[in-house]
Amino acid sequence: MQVRNCIRCGKLFNYIGKPICYECIQQDEKDFEKVKEYIYDHPKATITEVSKQTGVSVKKITKFLREERLEVVDGSVGWLTCESCGADINTGRFCKECTLKLKNNLSEFSSLNDDKDKEDILDIKKTNYNSKMHLRHHLKRD
Ligand SMILES: [Zn+2]
Ligand SMILES: [Zn+2]
Repeated sequence: MQVRNCIRCGKLFNYIGKPICYECIQQDEKDFEKVKEYIYDHPKATITEVSKQTGVSVKKITKFLREERLEVVDGSVGWLTCESCGADINTGRFCKECTLKLKNNLSEFSSLNDDKDKEDILDIKKTNYNSKMHLRHHLKRD
């Protein structure tokens, strides 16, 4: 078991793959529920209004949106912008057009690198490792 300091509250906790402790994760969940409910009741609210009413920081609300856990209604302005072109978006990191462009670029990129990847895999398979066990007899002294 690995013990680490929580990057949020600084407390020591048993590390299970997340940089924050269990209490902070629970706090995030509570904040997430609060924000979700508020948006549900007030779909036209602005991000600063939601932050003020729920007590959850704008930064954290943005994080929920970027992780696609939260989505705002169409036409909501100033919540989240595309990281590529700056257009208003409802969730995630990029607008539909940029997502499409990125996907196309990615598939071009991966087809170019296909052969190289295969070689790498063959190289790994070729690697031979000597794992012969060297057994020793321990004689009992009587
Ligand atoms: Zn914590
Ligand atoms: Zn865009």
